[in-house]
Amino acid sequence: MLAVENLEVRYGGITALRRVSIEVGKGETVLLVGANGAGKSSLINAVIGLVPAKAGTIRFAGEDIGILSADRRARAGMGYSPEGRRVFPTMSVADNVLTGAHGRGKKAQKEAWDWLSGVFPMLEERAAQPAGQLSGGQQQIVAFARAMSSFPDLLLLDEPFLGLAPVWIARISDAIRQMQARGTTILMTEQMARPALKLATRGYIMRGGEVRRSGTVAEIRDLALAEEYL
Ligand code: ATP
Repeated sequence: MLAVENLEVRYGGITALRRVSIEVGKGETVLLVGANGAGKSSLINAVIGLVPAKAGTIRFAGEDIGILSADRRARAGMGYSPEGRRVFPTMSVADNVLTGAHGRGKKAQKEAWDWLSGVFPMLEERAAQPAGQLSGGQQQIVAFARAMSSFPDLLLLDEPFLGLAPVWIARISDAIRQMQARGTTILMTEQMARPALKLATRGYIMRGGEVRRSGTVAEIRDLALAEEYL
């Protein structure tokens, strides 16, 4: 479903990713583990098209998507939940969520809203409220729901659990399991990998802008423990 080969990302003189290659097969949930600054967000952002690749290729469903804009990549079936609870603060909760399903027609939007507000009743309770007025955890849910509202084929989640209370981690985990049951392919990053390891099938360990290891969840758990990511 996703094949990244020899990807390089630079910010001015800083090399954030160096010859990074990863693969995510259809229906897999793949975890990128690594400390702060390892390059996880740069990889996710290059895949969705928010940062340019200096070299390398990104193939999605067999097609080289390197020249497509982020908007085109989203329309081709990618959903993206950024790190750090990014919502449109003055827009209502419902509008925030449904910007993800923008352009997909009323029926698809209603289906997305009905499902998401069933999973997260808070969305229905706060539907009309400006998203900027919600708590941090609630804003994270809104950003996450927005990524899911287009029912993407590939869901990119950048640190979905960062700074969240256990109750929110459990609810987001439930929603991720429901996406998995629908056949969604997922690429997610985590610094604190413990809850994410329960959801993933495979993983990669990143450090210093490079992929250092890859393996099954059990192997990644052992490696991450040894390297103190848990
Ligand atoms: P975090 O968990 O903090 O997001 P990360 O593993 O996602 O870490 P990146 O955010 O991809 O890592 O950062 C990789 C490297 O690129 C770091 O050295 C970081 O300082 C640098 N970097 C990231 N964004 C920029 C930017 N916009 N301008 C300059 N350097 C950047």
